[in-house]
Amino acid sequence: MKFLFVEIIFPLLVLLFLRALLKNIFASFRSASAPRGQARPAAPPISIGGELKKDPVCGTYVSTVGSVSQKVNGQLVYFCSTACRDKYRAA
Ligand SMILES: [Zn+2]
Repeated sequence: MKFLFVEIIFPLLVLLFLRALLKNIFASFRSASAPRGQARPAAPPISIGGELKKDPVCGTYVSTVGSVSQKVNGQLVYFCSTACRDKYRAA
């Protein structure tokens, strides 16, 4: 019986102890690094600069920077593509 304890039960207890220890270390490491992740600011929804304007033809929101624009009655109207702009001009 003494042989059984030394060969099987004792190593098992050591293994369980080490596992609990590792779990504790890992948990404290995770809780220490969690607030840093939360403090990170959310990425802005639009990566391109400028204002969002609605394309009156297809309803898509386009950025005033890098989009197709057309002056209509002294006001700039923005389109997602030249095809939409041509449709708007034809209407
Ligand atoms: Zn469009």
